[in-house]
Amino acid sequence: MKQKPIICLTFDLEEFDLPLEYKQSISDTEQIEITSKGMEALLPMLEKEKISCTFFTTANYAQQKPEQIKQLSALHEIASHSFFHSSFKVSDLKSSKELLQNICGTDIVGFRMPRMAEVNSTDLQNAGYLYDSSLNPTCIPGRYNHLKEQKTVFKKNDLIIFPTTVTPTLRIPLFWLTFKNCSVKWFCKQVQKCLDEYGYVNLYFHPWEFADISNFSLPSYISKNPRMMLDKLQCFINHFKNKAEFTSIREKLDL
Ligand SMILES: [Zn+2]
Repeated sequence: MKQKPIICLTFDLEEFDLPLEYKQSISDTEQIEITSKGMEALLPMLEKEKISCTFFTTANYAQQKPEQIKQLSALHEIASHSFFHSSFKVSDLKSSKELLQNICGTDIVGFRMPRMAEVNSTDLQNAGYLYDSSLNPTCIPGRYNHLKEQKTVFKKNDLIIFPTTVTPTLRIPLFWLTFKNCSVKWFCKQVQKCLDEYGYVNLYFHPWEFADISNFSLPSYISKNPRMMLDKLQCFINHFKNKAEFTSIREKLDL
């Protein structure tokens, strides 16, 4: 029998520091609480559907919600999203990994850099990671241009690079912003195209998208209706439940 294609739903579990990018103030406590509220909305659905995902978690968030992370690690993969979302030094690769390992009691093998920024693969290997999912192989104006990069999984020395998914020809990124701003029908169609072409997809979201962030003046393509996001995600899961298998990245890569 033909193997089912694989859907990796991934969430960047981080302090909600986005308002700072828009020159608005938000306290450290509030950054954590907004993400935590999003988790409260999102987790019951993932639990009900028995779907295993990957949570790229900042050590900063994990430090403040250790019980939640420990519980999460029973059903999902916990990977590192560095130590802090707003600052980086090379030693954060190792220290975030160790902190997450201490909380979860399991080995942490995956990494994704905040804002999909570039990260040195040798540094990642030295810190003990087996895969990196920081590559979005498309062009996001003002951030990066990765149109020449490979679209599907490849190796850099011994490190596995597991890019997030873009459509085969136009390289439209299938991530939180397209999910939020396009119809579920359109999104499902694109995902199906990618499943046919690649055999898997690697999609990424943030738990804070499921929380009410209307108090901040952010563009509406970012902040609109969190309830709608949850409904859309439920529709997406319903659509693919019998057509594909939902797994963590670690499971997909067999690590
Ligand atoms: Zn992030």
